[in-house]
Parts: sequence; structure tokens; C-alpha cells
Amino acid sequence: MSRITCKFGGTSLADANRIRAAAAIVRANAARRFVVPSAPGKRSDDDKKITDLFYAWFHMVTDGLDPAQPRAIITERFLELAHDLGTKVDIAGELERIADTAKTCDTPDYLASRGEYLNGLIVADLLGAAFVDPADCIKFNFEAQLDPRTYEMLGERLDGPGLFVVPGFYGSDPNGEIRTFSRGGSDVTGSIVARASKSDLYENWTDVSGFRMTDPRIVPNAKRIDEITYAELRELAYMGASVLHDEAIFPVRGPGIPINIRNTNAPDDPGTMIVATRKATHPVAGIAARKGFTMINIEKTLMNKEIGFGRKVLGVLVEHGVNFEHMPTGIDTISLIVKDEEIKNHGEAILRSIQRICEPDNISLLPGLALIATVGLGMSSHVGVAARLCTALAEARVNIRVIDQGSSEMNIIVGVMESDLEAAVRAIYNAFESWD
Ligand code: ASP
Repeated sequence: MSRITCKFGGTSLADANRIRAAAAIVRANAARRFVVPSAPGKRSDDDKKITDLFYAWFHMVTDGLDPAQPRAIITERFLELAHDLGTKVDIAGELERIADTAKTCDTPDYLASRGEYLNGLIVADLLGAAFVDPADCIKFNFEAQLDPRTYEMLGERLDGPGLFVVPGFYGSDPNGEIRTFSRGGSDVTGSIVARASKSDLYENWTDVSGFRMTDPRIVPNAKRIDEITYAELRELAYMGASVLHDEAIFPVRGPGIPINIRNTNAPDDPGTMIVATRKATHPVAGIAARKGFTMINIEKTLMNKEIGFGRKVLGVLVEHGVNFEHMPTGIDTISLIVKDEEIKNHGEAILRSIQRICEPDNISLLPGLALIATVGLGMSSHVGVAARLCTALAEARVNIRVIDQGSSEMNIIVGVMESDLEAAVRAIYNAFESWD
């Protein structure tokens, strides 16, 4: 019989009714045997996420303040959940123990993970499932990378009949200290559980029916994506398409376990399938955009003849600990596109270093840049994609400041001024919504 891992996001578990709905989804299909819950999320726009309250608790303790307020809100929410759902979990006792351990923590990870831990206990009790604590079997090394032995250790714990609940978001380091993934990391736990349990499918239950071709805040009726590959999704997620953590594909990519993004509020919607390969009949799968980039433009006559010029420029970035995103070049020019958060206030210092080491004729910074990624596996087999994209931008009166097509031919990146971002995304979406 097939096996399914189901991860439920925070909004899908925010109150007792939503947890009941999630439990009904699990029970509706006997193959759904491995359940990964997030911490309860916001019940309404002005509510607080449990995880944020735990972070607040940690920061108050480290600042020498009394964390009574976040602790009281957390206690009340979990007591209410346990009561409404009629579970036997000893919330008060658990929170006593958590408060004691919190006094000895010097990183936020332990407290931050407790929302998933407590919610996991509640969901396991409700489903009559075995509770598997990831502290025992999802292991990180001291560099915070996943220890590959995790799959075997966790796999052994997930062997046998019945249902299993594995809380999302955390594991432990070689000293046994709790460590979390980055925010939104329960998606990654879901992937790890899917692989360790040898699931045939990883269902990621959230509050939307999958991905849309572009951000619905910019194009409200943007088409739903039925199917997308891991590689396409990674490009889009990296460029700002939220819904799934951008590292969630790594554990399932090797064994080729598909991820199905589903909506707990519309459980019959098929959602989006994320797969290893697909037949792309359309050149563009999605369009994602992100603000907050700066371009460093460097000009030097006969740069093309100077062996090692690029290396010197990149050496400056290494010296300042700065990552770069793209490096479009001309004969006598090199541009480097970097995230604003990477160069922070060091822009002038970087320019001075380039000046000193590379002796360019001219060097300037262009801040306020937005990058738009138009992504699609089908791009390489269609003629005229770049032409259509550029025409659409020209007709929308958007000036392209930089353009870059990756050698994978799966992605065209254009840089425009931030003020042009929305008009540009709309224009590209309209140009590729259909292809004939
Ligand atoms: N609860 C964690 C967060 O808010 C992890 C997750 O929900 O995926 O980031």
C-alpha cells in the first residue's frame, strides 16, 4: 500500500476546529501515515504566531526581563486547544519543564521549537498516533547541516503499523542540544520524513491551493500551476515565491518523491504537484520578483585583455564577505548584482577596494534594483521567448536595466528599477499567461 507524509502548516493548525479538519484529512486516506505539524499560526490578521511568542520569550529572558506575558499567552492558547480537543496532554506540566530549561539556554532554538513540540503532542494524542521526537532522530552537525544518518535513524522510528507524528522545524546537534531550521522549516522536516519513511508522496497542506504563476498581490487572478519541477520551483522560491521553504526540495529530490501543495480549506482542490520531470508544452511556468538589489558597474578599457580581472573583482567581494547574485559582462565592463542586505553600509568601502585593486576607469553603484525571474523548463524548446518578454516590457514602458539568461535556459532574469516592478510583472504575466 502507498505511504503518504502530510505536513500541516501553522495556519492549518491555528485553532481546535482547524486541527479537527486536519485530522479528518489524515483519516480520510489510510495511506496518510506520517504527520508533520507546525506550531499553531495566526487565527486572524492581528493574532500572534506561537513561534513568534516563543522567540519573544527567549529574548526577554536574555535581556533580563520577565517573560510572563508571552508565556501566559502561549499557556492560554495551548490549554484552550487541549481542552477543546479533549486531549490528555499535560500542558501545564510541559510548560513548567520548558520554563525551567529555558533559563539555561543561550540560543533561541530550544524555545522556538516548543510550539511544534507541544502541537505535536496534541495532534498525536488526537489521532492516536505514535509521537516521534525529532530531537532523537533528526540530527545536525556542528555546522548546522543535516547529518545524513538522520534518514536511517528516523526511518527505524517510523517503521511499523499505524500513524506517526513528527513535529516540524527542529532536530538536535551532536551534543543533543535542540537546533531549528530557518523560519518556515517544518516544510523541510516534512521532506525529511517523506524520505525516511519511504513515502510515495509528500503532501504539504497549507492555506492556498498551490502555486500561482505569479504573486496574486500583483496579478489577483494569476493562473494556478498544476505541475512544476523541483528545479523550476527552486528558482521561483529563491526569487521570492513563498508557499514552500526553498530548501524543502533537497531531501525528496534524490528519491524523486513528488510534493503536492494542498489547501486544508479546500481539500478537494488538486493543488500543485512538484515533480522531478515533466513535459513542458508552455515555455513559462512562473514569474517571481524581488526588490532590494544593488548593481556595481565597473568599466575599464581593454578589460577583455587583462587576464585575472574578474578574479580581482570577485576577490574584493570575498574580502568584504559579500555574496553576489549575477555578473553580466560586456567587453570593457563587468556588473555585479548583490542583495542590499549583503552590502549593507559597506558600499563605499567596496568601491574603494575595487578602485585600489582593479584600477578601473569608472565605477558606480546603482541601488534600488528589482530582479524578476521568468522561469520555465519549456523555454529552451520555444523560439521567441526573450523577444516576447522584452516586447512586453517595452510596451509597458519599463526600462530593462540588466538582463541575464542562465545557461540552463530555464530562467531569464531582468533587472528593473523597484518602482517599475509591479508594471513589469503584470506585463510579463500577460505576455505568457497563454502561448500559441
Ligand atoms: N513555526 C516555525 C515558523 O514559524 C516553523 C514553521 O512553521 O515551518 O517559522
